[in-house]
Amino acid sequence: MIQPEVHTLPVTLTIVVPVFNEAESITTFLQKLTDTFAAHPQVALDFVFVNDGSTDDTLNALLAWQQRTPHITVVDLSRNFGKEAAMTAGLNVAKGQVVVPIDVDLQDPPELILDMLQLWQQGFEVVLGRRVDRASDSWAKRTTASWFYKIHNKISKPKLPENVGDFRLMDRVVVDALKTLPEAHRFMKGLFAWVGFRTAVVDYVRLPRTVGTTKFNGWSLWNFALEGLTSFSTEPLRIWTYVGMFVSGMSILFALFIIIKVLLYGADVPGYASLMVAVTFLSGLQLVGIGILGEYLGRTYIESKRRPVYLVRRLYQAADK
Ligand code: UDP
Ligand code: MG
Repeated sequence: MIQPEVHTLPVTLTIVVPVFNEAESITTFLQKLTDTFAAHPQVALDFVFVNDGSTDDTLNALLAWQQRTPHITVVDLSRNFGKEAAMTAGLNVAKGQVVVPIDVDLQDPPELILDMLQLWQQGFEVVLGRRVDRASDSWAKRTTASWFYKIHNKISKPKLPENVGDFRLMDRVVVDALKTLPEAHRFMKGLFAWVGFRTAVVDYVRLPRTVGTTKFNGWSLWNFALEGLTSFSTEPLRIWTYVGMFVSGMSILFALFIIIKVLLYGADVPGYASLMVAVTFLSGLQLVGIGILGEYLGRTYIESKRRPVYLVRRLYQAADK
């Protein structure tokens, strides 16, 4: 058997950070990361911040930091494109041999990147951070998230590893592979899983946010889940064939039942209730079916326009690049 090749230090590491109205988080974030890697001269650290259309002072805060430190790149997007698009922008600009996307709110502990690097040195190309304890998330978020994974993994391939967010380490080969995926709808969790590669997992406890507030509410998470399901499975489309066959089968049985009943006992006119139930039930069913068709058609329509995933207002290149 050919041994997987191991990776060696020194290494260049690019941290990719999408930021949306996070002016007050940036300083603590950068200090924490610089401290974490201070004792590791073998790791040459640089940052790519993607300003995802912030309306507060985020861009100025980033540019002020860039003046002081040579290794910060800032990608300023023309508006808010959403975290998935911002992350795509960051990965496209990242130059490091390994790349780690991370949230700016320090909910994911940066120390873990050191453990990830150890696994990378053993030859792994992807190291996932898995949340063992989601106590920092609300009960509702935890339960709906677990339902989402259950349903998604039943109907989609490849399966999504449960409780794994965007926080992960990726080798250059993985990032380059991601860049070849052309879709405009970027459900990153799914794309990350789709590209594959040798994968290891490190567990960690996800902390509550210390500064600022979450950018995702219940409705946006619901849409995010729909995005995931429709991006990676056509099962919701196919199910209607079976629902249709089942309902037609039942109505044939019902027809036989009526015919026999009429032959045996003669015709009786009443039947308003059963008629009403059948009409409303079936029209509801048809509308759901059409809705799901629309969901996919809409996505195909958007994809067919071939619009870019994001637009850059300006790229502030790191001074040492
Ligand atoms: N974010 C972004 N664009 C958005 C929403 C969020 O770039 O439209 C960034 C945000 O600034 C943060 C990360 O994505 O760095 C995660 O956001 P948040 O902490 O609100 O998500 P949660 O941890 O609640 O899932
Ligand atoms: Mg967060």
